[in-house]
Amino acid sequence: MIDVKRVREQTASCGRHVHFNNAGASPMADPVKSAVIAHIEKEAEMGGYRAAREASAQIDDFYDAFAALLNCERTEIAYVENATRAWDSVFYGFDFKPGDRVVTCMSEYGSNYLAFLHLARTKGIIIDVAANDASGQVSVAAIRQLITSRTRLIAITHVPTQGGLVNPAEEVGAVARQNGIRFLLDACQSIGHLPLDVKAIGCDFLSGTGRKYLRGPRGTGVLYANMQALAEIHPPFVDIGAAKWVSRDGYELLPDARRFENWEYHVAGKIGLAAAVRYALNLGVDATWARIRGLADMLRGELARDSRIRLGDQGEKKCGIVTFHRDDEHPQDTMRRLEDARVSVSVSEQCDARLDLEARGIASLVRTSVHYFNTEAEIEKVCRIALA
Ligand SMILES: *Cc1c(COP(=O)(O)O)cnc(C)c1O
Repeated sequence: MIDVKRVREQTASCGRHVHFNNAGASPMADPVKSAVIAHIEKEAEMGGYRAAREASAQIDDFYDAFAALLNCERTEIAYVENATRAWDSVFYGFDFKPGDRVVTCMSEYGSNYLAFLHLARTKGIIIDVAANDASGQVSVAAIRQLITSRTRLIAITHVPTQGGLVNPAEEVGAVARQNGIRFLLDACQSIGHLPLDVKAIGCDFLSGTGRKYLRGPRGTGVLYANMQALAEIHPPFVDIGAAKWVSRDGYELLPDARRFENWEYHVAGKIGLAAAVRYALNLGVDATWARIRGLADMLRGELARDSRIRLGDQGEKKCGIVTFHRDDEHPQDTMRRLEDARVSVSVSEQCDARLDLEARGIASLVRTSVHYFNTEAEIEKVCRIALA
């Protein structure tokens, strides 16, 4: 059980703002914020190199913290500046040949799909989009049917940016393994939100961001790459942080996932993200997920009582993202009224997830996203304003 009073005390802004945009950027808990600021102070005091040496234990804990969160080895974790670059460093690491195929899903994230289109244009890869099942989640049978001898990769989004859907990642992982195909999971919205176990999911690569449900600082991200799979691809960029220049004409990549890292990075951000993961682990991912689901179900239930509301969330299993639009109001206007009352939400637009929203004939949606520190009273307030 989450001690809601205590977690709210540990995020002082909860008393001033209603944070319902946790899928966009969730507020850092005060101990996380303090860890970031303390390191910046240290850098200002003694310079960044010495500050990093003195903080080496905190920096190093990044790998152990994520290994505990995702159930993997610390050697399979890399720090990357955001989830998109983490995902890119895997996707662009494949040596695709013309006619190679990538299987994805209808709810795929915009930036990922742009990368598919990019390599379709420049390398001639073919994009296969698996249909949804009746519930609106990706159809595992459709994925299975799309696989050919040329399929190199299955890349899907776990929880999409534009709705409360949770795609069946474990079932997709089983198909990938049965067919010997690599599986890249965009877990940007699911990391810190619901329990993630890379062994149970069976993914080879997983990307996540710091600022969303993990409540870390902005401009931080993480990549998981399993040790067998990472040897099959080559990082698209190689610098002195990713490889050793061992002879005039030769280099050796680092043996582990850190070959996907850059030498230079935001050290305070990495420390902050490690602290955020520890904070999440201390609360317990099962407990936070149970509370998030309870709050989201309550919010959907309250909204659905008004006949002007169309809920947007699909899938068998729903999460903390709750999307809707009002028949009689543009989502941007609904958001503006909420923002005026210090309620943060966001609006999902077609270009964020064109396959999905276009197919459903939706131009945009109000996206609310609850976290464990939100309260039933805040839900009442949001509904009162949204339905006014
Ligand atoms: C936010 C988001 C991303 C991008 O994450 P960044 O850290 O901003 O690069 C990728 N995929 C999904 C599903 C997202 O919601």
